[in-house]
Amino acid sequence: MGNRFQIKDRFAAGAQYIGGQLRPGTSGRTQDIVNPATGETVLTYELAGAADVDAAVASAHEAFPGWAGATPGERSDTLHRFASVLAERSAELADAETLQCGKPIKLSTEFDVPGTVDNTAFFAGAARHLQGQSAGEYSGDHTSYVRREPIGTIGSIAPWNYPLQMAAWKILPAIASGNTIVLKPAEITPLTSLMFAEAAAEAGVPDGVVNIISGAGKDAGEHLVGHRDIAMTSFTGSTAIGKRVAEIATASVKRLHLELGGKAPFVVFDDADVDAAAHGAVAGSLINSGQDCTAATRAYVQRPLYDAFVGAVADLMAGVRLGDPFDPSTDLGPLVSHLQRDRVAGFVERARGYATVVTGGQAPGGDLKDGAYYLPTLVTGAAQDSEIVQSEIFGPVLVVLPFDTDDEGIALANDTPYGLAASAWSRDVYRAGRATREIKAGCVWVNDHIPIISEMPHGGYKASGFGKDMSAYSFDEYTQVKHVMFDNTAVVRKDWHRTIFGDRP
Ligand code: NAD
Repeated sequence: MGNRFQIKDRFAAGAQYIGGQLRPGTSGRTQDIVNPATGETVLTYELAGAADVDAAVASAHEAFPGWAGATPGERSDTLHRFASVLAERSAELADAETLQCGKPIKLSTEFDVPGTVDNTAFFAGAARHLQGQSAGEYSGDHTSYVRREPIGTIGSIAPWNYPLQMAAWKILPAIASGNTIVLKPAEITPLTSLMFAEAAAEAGVPDGVVNIISGAGKDAGEHLVGHRDIAMTSFTGSTAIGKRVAEIATASVKRLHLELGGKAPFVVFDDADVDAAAHGAVAGSLINSGQDCTAATRAYVQRPLYDAFVGAVADLMAGVRLGDPFDPSTDLGPLVSHLQRDRVAGFVERARGYATVVTGGQAPGGDLKDGAYYLPTLVTGAAQDSEIVQSEIFGPVLVVLPFDTDDEGIALANDTPYGLAASAWSRDVYRAGRATREIKAGCVWVNDHIPIISEMPHGGYKASGFGKDMSAYSFDEYTQVKHVMFDNTAVVRKDWHRTIFGDRP
């Protein structure tokens, strides 16, 4: 927890990491990093401007041939060392993540940091398993094979909800497959992305392979996406900003990977264990104060279980302990900012006109009044087409609606523009199996909601975007395949040349 008091010294050189050095931004504008639990400014730094983005891209561009030319074994060894350095720095990383996001220290310590270390170890191994498809004599006269090659310099943009994990999800598959990268974290939460890049350098990742630009979305972000020397844009954030990023990237014909918003359904069939479902819904909707793109947001409960489920969720929410995020017994910290808290409160206030707020629906006050806190909130009685059911809230708010038939439950689950994640709760394997097939989302859990693992892909359907983070599937985003074809005949006038030279014999 010493980090809370040393943060100004730690980043005294600036909050831009370019070519292996921390340095100040040159935009002429500053950004405060605010502890959302207290409202206190813990660091003010100079934001990146276009010149800083140019310098970071140049550094990544210069580092590319050397890093792309390293053997998979060399890259793998470096990433294994990287995982060890991160593990040694676990406490410092967890402190910084809790400080800038307000997330409970037990979440940073047990989820964000070990998840990042595991992801790094996974990509250290996966770096040696990049494969093209089989080689062969498909024409008869040639040998063909496929090379899988890195794309070049990647420009990535990340959100504020899991800054360390998002940096890891963007940087690791890119560099494991031989690319170099410039990452722009959210300007309110750059600390752990910077620390991640420093740890990479300490492990032996060459200077310039990983660069961090701490800048505003509209200027540094857009300049990065449109940059001539960026070969691909990988963006995680809201669907609205994702559309803007797609416009800019498409105009310069860049490869694009979009991980966007979510509005995950949580479907409880009438044979489910209602107690397990209620626990799953409370944990799945409140994790990270609900600022999780896969959080359970819409619970659809088959009518026989509806009352029991609503009662159990309300009781469990009442027992969740809000408090100082650095207190190990705190379950729920503040939201990331007062702005985000007010945005969430706005959704709930508007819903009072058409739905019932069963519990929560306000800031806690008292000792927590200066922080961006919001009570766990349960809403019922909303119509399927209402704002609170259709829009991403990104806060500790769960809406519960009843349904009658299985067909209806699945149709309601699919009835938003999003398709990132979902869960189905049932003890009947056929019912659960049907839900996994018919719900349109990039991940469907059965009798759980939230767990992720490095080996499995994460990514959306529909307006939640396209492309995958984590797992070997992410290499499909960060590599391109090249067909190589060798003539095996050594003849001057080849058979197919008859299309130009004379008639068919
Ligand atoms: P956001 O879209 O406001 O910002 C995301 C990033 O984009 C930030 O770094 C921001 O500075 C940058 N940005 C803003 N305007 C930009 C512009 N015009 N050009 C380029 N970059 C710009 O999102 P947020 O509020 O930081 O994060 C919450 C959102 O992220 C939610 O919608 C959530 O669902 C989504 N998210 C998705 C996933 C996923 O894997 N699908 C994971 C985490 C978060």
